[in-house]
Amino acid sequence: MSEFDQYNTNQIVEDDKNHFLHPWQYFDSFKEEGALPIAKAEGAYIYDTDGNKMLDAIGGMWCTNIGLGREDMVEAIADQVRQMAYANPMVDMTNIPAGQLAKKLAELAPGDLNHVFLSCGGSTAVDTAFRLIHFYQNCRGLHDKKHIIARKEAYHGSTYAAMSIGGKKADHVKEFDYITDTIHHISTPYYYRAPEGLSEEEYTDTLIKEFEDKIEELGGAGKVAAFFAEPIMGSGGVIVPPKGYIQRMWETCKANDILYVSDEVVTAFGRVGHWFASEDVFAIQPDIITSAKGLTSGYQPLGATIFSDGIWDVIAASGKGRYFAHGFTYSGHPVACRAALKNIEIIEDEKILEHVREVGPYFQQELEKLVDLPIVGEVRGKNFMICIENVANKQTKELFAEELDIGRWITDEAAKRGVLVRPIGHLNVLSPPIILTKEQVDHIVSTLRESIEAVM
Ligand code: PLP
Repeated sequence: MSEFDQYNTNQIVEDDKNHFLHPWQYFDSFKEEGALPIAKAEGAYIYDTDGNKMLDAIGGMWCTNIGLGREDMVEAIADQVRQMAYANPMVDMTNIPAGQLAKKLAELAPGDLNHVFLSCGGSTAVDTAFRLIHFYQNCRGLHDKKHIIARKEAYHGSTYAAMSIGGKKADHVKEFDYITDTIHHISTPYYYRAPEGLSEEEYTDTLIKEFEDKIEELGGAGKVAAFFAEPIMGSGGVIVPPKGYIQRMWETCKANDILYVSDEVVTAFGRVGHWFASEDVFAIQPDIITSAKGLTSGYQPLGATIFSDGIWDVIAASGKGRYFAHGFTYSGHPVACRAALKNIEIIEDEKILEHVREVGPYFQQELEKLVDLPIVGEVRGKNFMICIENVANKQTKELFAEELDIGRWITDEAAKRGVLVRPIGHLNVLSPPIILTKEQVDHIVSTLRESIEAVM
């Protein structure tokens, strides 16, 4: 008798197919294929309803940072539910974990980012930033300063505003509408596919020039409210920006009174070895940081929009009766905040950031060895945020024909061997729990090598 005997996998898949509209579901083909039902998780491993064990090198969805199934997380969450699962957050009342978490985030965030709005995930954190930016510019009387500049192939979430700020071609489908009059996209800082012959610095020069030209085209700094960027682009293909790019984009924002929003939904809470990448990896202090995912390591849904004293003070000084008419029933949800506090405590107590800075480079270095394979064009990323770019021709960087779904095929081969990696078109992305051991790294790397060889 196994603990998995209780599950009727066929029934579970059927019920799911018939009634659960999944994120990013194709209406027609999903009805044929269905999804793999996951029943259990322990550390970096997940188990399907038939008891098959897999090493989850996707980390849920870039989020199960400290690993799943931890008893101390269960205890903290259960204790909060027992004590008080919910309290109204709308001004008249608060709850203890929400205030404690906001204070902790203010301590961990760079510089004067001392104010925190809590929501339900990354999309709502980004949407909140978008609304806060309008609110701030209107409070300053700068009613024309409304344009947002973001990047092609960026992903910022799935609310109407967040998806419009995102620039992923594949996500901007004709059946949906998007905000197009005030949101604009400039180039992805994608050095692997930059024009031949440019050094990283020269490439950065061209990207800065494009940003400055875009500001001009929109009517100058008086018309541009904010710039949104992930420090390292995640689902756009783990794009590590070329030398100087982040710093110079930030300086350009400062010079033009444009708010810099660093979307750290993926990069914060240890994935690249720090609480936040903006300051520790790229030496900038954004005006707003959005975060979610690793904030609770996936144990509870939670998003945070962390913003500066500068924004707060300008709003506060701008006039009486400023009314932040924005919020959610679940803003500062006590159970989610308690989970985040415990998650942060575990990262601190177990020195998990130090672990990432030790094992992350090993993960990166071992995966980089895959470039000796004829179809691996590039392996890029930082620590536990890595992408393998598969190409038909390494010299020309030509892609495989669209019908050759190479990323998916490699994913399927790896899954057969017990390792989950994520396909994004011709790419394979890895974002495992950040507690990964060197042995687990070796297992992932050797499995990927076999899987890539199997599709060649
Ligand atoms: N921002 C970034 C950079 C993301 O990668 C994501 C999700 O993948 C989001 C925002 C949206 O977060 P959520 O899916 O929690 O709404």
